[in-house]
Amino acid sequence: MPLAPCREPPAAYHGPMRLVDSHCHVNADRFEGDADQVLGAARLAGVERILVPGWNVASSGRALDLVARFDWLDAAVGVHPHDAAKVDEAGWARIVDWASDDRVVAIGETGLDYDRVFSPIPDQLINLRRNLALALATGKPAILHCRSAAGKRDAQDALLDELTKVGVGGPEWAAAFPERPPVVIHSFSGPVDYAEAVLELGAVISFSGLVFRAGEESSAEVAALAPIDRFLTETDSPFLAPPGAPRGRNEPQWVRITAAWLAERQQTDPERLGDALVRSYEVTFPRPQAADPR
Ligand SMILES: [Zn+2]
Repeated sequence: MPLAPCREPPAAYHGPMRLVDSHCHVNADRFEGDADQVLGAARLAGVERILVPGWNVASSGRALDLVARFDWLDAAVGVHPHDAAKVDEAGWARIVDWASDDRVVAIGETGLDYDRVFSPIPDQLINLRRNLALALATGKPAILHCRSAAGKRDAQDALLDELTKVGVGGPEWAAAFPERPPVVIHSFSGPVDYAEAVLELGAVISFSGLVFRAGEESSAEVAALAPIDRFLTETDSPFLAPPGAPRGRNEPQWVRITAAWLAERQQTDPERLGDALVRSYEVTFPRPQAADPR
């Protein structure tokens, strides 16, 4: 019996989807031996831009080394909540110095982690505040990590409180970020009303493979909450491999799995979603004119 013709061609017939990875630690040790191959595979999968965030002084420096080698990558410098208690004044001074580099398009990652608490919470709060102050001073968005223990939302509530206290969403931040989001909620995790509140402050929400994990079901609802220009996609490589990717080490090429999920949630086709993702990335992380070789 002949096969029935497909009513619609699969998405792949339209060509590869345009993709961005707004958060990829290709500056991590686990990519030391094969970053070139990993980035080549990402390119073949359609990934056009990758943001490489630091999490402490050394990794922020390595993010800058990478953007010097690959002109389609962008760097962020900052201190992760896990490292909040480990960065001394001299280290912080280097981050501040690097923050004004043209190749640095954002500050982070920073934020709050009340799940693992690798640094005491008071240190995390001090660290978050100074990273936010640096974002405001440089006009480069803060990349925010926020995790609570399973079933809790205390970190999300504390983050929202801090953002409101420093004036995100108010006139000072609006003046420093006239045409782009002041903060990126990286690897979104949390309840729907928290998402609504950060969107209200002007944040862009970035989804990772975390959306597929048990306990993160609210992400599916959040992904349909707002127009696509309020969302980004990321891998958080080498962490958070989505289903369908090799489990050992996540890589930027697998951002296509999360992007396909987002297209479905937004009820749009992958091609249109890809165009929108690239545009959102460019709006959120613009490069200074002088640094653009084209
Ligand atoms: Zn990260």
